[in-house]
Amino acid sequence: LTSNDAIEEHRICVCVRARPLNKKELSVKDLDVITIPSKDVVMVHEPKQKVDLTRYLENQTFRFDYAFDKNSTNEMVYRFTAQPLVETIFERGMATCFAYGQTGSGKTHTMGGDFSGKNQDCSKGIYALSARDVFLMLKKPSYKKMDLQVFATFFEIYSGKVFDLLNRKAKLRVLEDGKQQVQVVGLQEREVKCTEDVLKLIEMGNSCRTSGQTSANAHSSRSHAVFQIILRRRGKMHGKFSLIDLAGNERGADTSSADRQTRLEGAEINKSLLALKECIRALGRNKPHTPFRASKLTQVLRDSFIGENSRTCMIATISPGMASCENTLNTLRYANRVKEF
Ligand code: ADP
Ligand code: MG
Repeated sequence: LTSNDAIEEHRICVCVRARPLNKKELSVKDLDVITIPSKDVVMVHEPKQKVDLTRYLENQTFRFDYAFDKNSTNEMVYRFTAQPLVETIFERGMATCFAYGQTGSGKTHTMGGDFSGKNQDCSKGIYALSARDVFLMLKKPSYKKMDLQVFATFFEIYSGKVFDLLNRKAKLRVLEDGKQQVQVVGLQEREVKCTEDVLKLIEMGNSCRTSGQTSANAHSSRSHAVFQIILRRRGKMHGKFSLIDLAGNERGADTSSADRQTRLEGAEINKSLLALKECIRALGRNKPHTPFRASKLTQVLRDSFIGENSRTCMIATISPGMASCENTLNTLRYANRVKEF
């Protein structure tokens, strides 16, 4: 390996996180079919308990950069995924962190924080932990003297359209100029001075994301949420960290749905997740052509897929239950494809 190869190798990190069985799964006696035997291996297998199997589940093993089991905390997942990318944006780079997986597998829990109980806490999510470290880095003498300012944006991509979560879901246009710069016109970019400021914006965006919906998850599972931390120096962009809570990747219900809108949404999600995979793979191979125009998601993230100093991590979240194993295997296969060149 030359030092250059070594750098290339670390441009993409792909991890898996399994959550514990939840109350609902336990109440219907769903069984855990996931084992994480070492820090980078995931196994999908038959339930350990003897049951009268209606389905036969073949053992399958996958290897990733890291695998986090049901006892892992957000802080732990953060340390091996997004945290190493914080420095990138201080070095004039672009960093991106995706949470990918089926609805209910833990994407929002990982990225946004814990919203299960009465006390909604976004301070332990990867959005907030990243912001915390950005402000810690700013205190280092070498960065302090650079006079950097920090800004945040928070928006949602739903059915190929962009909505500003920091501005009452205003619908925004995406423009690409002659120099192939992509711009989300009118996107609110709020200056933030401390982690507390960021927490307020996350809360605001989250409530905006779920408001007016009969079922909060029904909507949020069909949209991509993008939270960005932007460093500016004398007005010019210095670096950008995009943290993305992707739409649920489950298929089937959509394609066969009688409702046209639901089918269209499903097709749009599928298209964007396929484009995303290709764009990340192109980044790893330094391919001259990156198919970022194939979806709104990849289009607005264009600068993250090009450029010398772009780094990406993907956290594939999986549900541990037997009932989810079809979706779990799809998630693991997708994540596998992202890391293989
Ligand atoms: P998604 O965003 O992928 O649809 P959520 O993050 O909303 O899924 O998670 C679904 C439920 O599971 C939530 O109630 C959440 O609190 C819980 N959950 C998710 N991940 C974990 C975890 N690692 N540990 C404990 N509970 C979790
Ligand atoms: Mg979610």
